[in-house]
Amino acid sequence: MAELPEIFKLAGQMRDTLHGKTIQSITLLQEKCSNVPPDEFQERVSGARIKDIRNKGKWIITELNNGENILLSLGMGADILFFENEKNKPDKYQVKVVFSDGSGYTARFWWFGKFLLVSDEELASEPNTKDIGIDPFDERFTLDYFSSILKGKKTQIKAFLMNQKNVSGIGNMYMHDILFRARLHPQKRISDMNEDEIKLLYSSIMDILNFSLEKGTFAYESDFFGQKGGYTTDYFLVGYKENQPCPVCGEKIISIKTGSTTSYICPACQKV
Ligand SMILES: [Zn+2]
Repeated sequence: MAELPEIFKLAGQMRDTLHGKTIQSITLLQEKCSNVPPDEFQERVSGARIKDIRNKGKWIITELNNGENILLSLGMGADILFFENEKNKPDKYQVKVVFSDGSGYTARFWWFGKFLLVSDEELASEPNTKDIGIDPFDERFTLDYFSSILKGKKTQIKAFLMNQKNVSGIGNMYMHDILFRARLHPQKRISDMNEDEIKLLYSSIMDILNFSLEKGTFAYESDFFGQKGGYTTDYFLVGYKENQPCPVCGEKIISIKTGSTTSYICPACQKV
């Protein structure tokens, strides 16, 4: 499942490739992934030019020059693929966008993908995206900022970080190694964390996510051009490595239940 590094890379590739293109047509084969019917969608975007594409947490927002915005969520997984011309477009998709130069892209959702149309006026109050917190690749995500949002909180640290209203973009996959590098148990309470632990957690978030980006992001996700990333599971420290030795102390890595998620931890390095 795509998390911040994958979404950040995809949004960047979409921006570089599609900026300035004019939308000719939109095909919506699965109506339930959108908030407006196919005819209305087509009518409201046809002839509009792409002004900007950026991510907000795990959402990708395409801003058009006519006051409309396309909001894309990959849900539980999706392939968003560019094509130069319709002859070499992917066979399977639920959404297809074609530009006036003949190029375009398709979206194939595995589960719960969204492709919404929202006007500039509605954007600030759009229920899916209005409360999304600042993500770690946003320049506003400084150590001071991070410390400020933790202040006074009593929640368990993993639950806090998983909540997209607090910090957006981090999901279960990168979380294991982020907490391991910070030597934090997922159920540690924020109110029990000292300044050094917060500092270490901040740098761990930045290091793990940036390292994935450097390696071309997760190896099992396709980018806009169908290429897989280079961040393979070999780079994982403890994530999904049950019964294997901890890379720091050699203790056996275990998996534990943390609310609705599973967590991989080293029981010696990460004490509650
Ligand atoms: Zn250990």
